[in-house]
Amino acid sequence: MPAPELSVVVPVFNEAASIAPFLARIGPVLAEHAPDHEIVFVNDGSRDATLAVLMDHLGRNPRLRLVDLSRNFGKEAALSAGLDFCTGRAVVPIDVDLQDPPELIGEMLQLWRDGYEMVLAQRSERSTDAWSKRTSAGLFYRLANRLSGVDLPHNVGDFRLMDRRVVEALSLMPERTRFMKGLFAWLGFKQTTVQYARAARAAGDTKFRLGSLWRLALDGLLSFTTAPLKVWTYLGVLFATGAFGYLSFIIGRTLIFGIDLPGYASLLACILFFSGLNLVGLGVIGEYLARVFIEVKRRPLYIVRDAAGFEATANPALHRRRI
Ligand code: UDP
Ligand code: MG
Repeated sequence: MPAPELSVVVPVFNEAASIAPFLARIGPVLAEHAPDHEIVFVNDGSRDATLAVLMDHLGRNPRLRLVDLSRNFGKEAALSAGLDFCTGRAVVPIDVDLQDPPELIGEMLQLWRDGYEMVLAQRSERSTDAWSKRTSAGLFYRLANRLSGVDLPHNVGDFRLMDRRVVEALSLMPERTRFMKGLFAWLGFKQTTVQYARAARAAGDTKFRLGSLWRLALDGLLSFTTAPLKVWTYLGVLFATGAFGYLSFIIGRTLIFGIDLPGYASLLACILFFSGLNLVGLGVIGEYLARVFIEVKRRPLYIVRDAAGFEATANPALHRRRI
């Protein structure tokens, strides 16, 4: 069986209610624009009926594939699993909650056939997201682009079309910290964008919490820039110079006017300020050290319990990342 033209990769985590509406909506789109396709679901350790629902659909639809992970590894890892297992010449990762409109796939495929290797779906407005999520995202992009040198495109998510070349290049990146947006931006290739309005979730609710968004932002920043690590050298020089100037002033003043004892408050303020600064600097080093620690362990990104629907020839060792 030759590779299909298009693979759609769908990570799912506790999405039993979303799967049927998703298939109902994407089915006609794929039938029209890419009859030769496969849909690869990655069950990211769901604790509800997701797996049973998927198995049920799998029995009836020969175009469905399933990669079942051994536990919840997070969306980025689940996506990596799907990308490793899919075989299509073009690949589209998409959320199951229909926030990414499947209808866009037709337009993306057209651009891919015209020679683009990556077609990004860009949200033209985020009014369905909470105000806090929109502002924090805006702030994050500004900061990340300024610091990292790679140009993270604004308002794009994982919804995009990739040529097989891009998927293969992505699998060469061995890092455990999968900040996908950054990895994609780093890869390059011939890119273009299509615009869409992001819909509200069709069923269930978001799996991301404020804490995990913060960690995602940190990952994004720290894995693409070492600027926070280096800034301490300059801060140190700056404060040491200031301290030296002040010291000379104190010595001069004491020589001229004699000893002047009061100064408890300013002394305490200085000590507190600089110990705080020290701790922040240590914390930044710790953040990087923790990431180095995770990377050197070289654990696989995800563990597959089972895969279904794939050819017998599909390489079962694919999920073990190259060293
Ligand atoms: N998802 C996943 N593993 C997770 C969290 C989410 O596979 O640990 C999937 C989820 O099932 C959905 C997609 O990732 O298909 C996007 O999740 P969600 O809609 O919760 O994120 P949001 O749209 O709020 O960014
Ligand atoms: Mg969503």
